[in-house]
Amino acid sequence: MNTSDQPFLPFTRPTLDEQTIAEVGDVLRSGWITSGPQVQAFEAELSQLFGGRPVRTFNSGTATMEIALRIAGIGPGDEVITTPLSWVATSNTILEVGAKPVFVDIDPVTRNIDLSRVAAAITPATRAIMPVYLAGLPVDMDHLYDIAKRHRLRVIEDAAQAIGSQWGGKRIGAFGDFVSFSFHPNKNITSIEGGALVLNNDDEARLAEKYRLQGVSRSGMDGMEVDVLGGKFNLTDVAACVGRAQLKRLDEFNARRAELARRYFDGLAGGDALACGVQLPPADFANTNWHMFQIMLPLERLSLDRAGFMLQLKERGIGSGVHYPAIHLFKLYRALGFRDGMFPHAERAGRAILTLPLFPAMSDADVERVCLAVNAICLKYKK
Ligand SMILES: *Cc1c(COP(=O)(O)O)cnc(C)c1O
Repeated sequence: MNTSDQPFLPFTRPTLDEQTIAEVGDVLRSGWITSGPQVQAFEAELSQLFGGRPVRTFNSGTATMEIALRIAGIGPGDEVITTPLSWVATSNTILEVGAKPVFVDIDPVTRNIDLSRVAAAITPATRAIMPVYLAGLPVDMDHLYDIAKRHRLRVIEDAAQAIGSQWGGKRIGAFGDFVSFSFHPNKNITSIEGGALVLNNDDEARLAEKYRLQGVSRSGMDGMEVDVLGGKFNLTDVAACVGRAQLKRLDEFNARRAELARRYFDGLAGGDALACGVQLPPADFANTNWHMFQIMLPLERLSLDRAGFMLQLKERGIGSGVHYPAIHLFKLYRALGFRDGMFPHAERAGRAILTLPLFPAMSDADVERVCLAVNAICLKYKK
């Protein structure tokens, strides 16, 4: 229960303006509400954002990654290298196409896949690497593509959290192989549900269109052919309209996120939380889109666990989140042979990582309130 005298602060909340709501009304009244002109316009605008590379949209980020795997021809007998610290969608899509996820532990500082360990995980069956940019912080992209080139692997970037992130001044999505984004409401921009895939050429884009709608291709006035097994993954025009309105505000949203992240670093500097061993995320203001602000709790130095910590925040009117438990310890993955102890850094993060509130509509005072609460809880429960 929120026993503070302040309104509850969630860990995230989408910012949707009245103009967007009016534009959605226009689409609903237009007579065409599923995939149509809004989707085409959204894809063109995204393509412009990503330096003119082809972009196709889907009804989720999960569908986007699954279709990238299919376009890459990955299936039974193939291995895909990925991180155990992600939303379970990442490795679920690998299983979904019949391939085998091969986890590589994270770097405890960046919390992303440790690229220096990737080479040791490559076998003759390895076909692709699927890195995840947790909280919007990219991996070392030069290192990533160097490994891919040297071992002739495809890369399917799970950039679900990384729209607006950069590497060396280049926008994530504007270079590389397949780059997958999500527009889930928790992401930096939303289409309610949705996703987008940046592709390499028009042939891949045409294949993406088939996979997202029953394998169908059309020609002339009445021609229809089906030559691959596709599914039903198209984005609606209502969703695309929301996405287009959000895209216009991407830079503004991300700038505000960065400002709030700076306030977190300032607000936590020299406080009881750091003294007690709380670890902060890398302060990478050049590259990160600040999708999340995640701290690592020093569980061995606290007399309460993460759930207890979250409850203490909740009593102070503050929401928090867990992104994420280590994937390989879920029952579905244990059944495939994964065990405790295999990826110790990811396991520790899975137990100790905590997402603090961060979204564009937050006030500076909200950040201050969270910092005070985190410091107070650490002081109170320090062993
Ligand atoms: C959100 C997310 C996804 C899945 O996106 P959906 O649109 O929810 O399907 C995949 N991977 C990561 C890392 C995510 O954060």
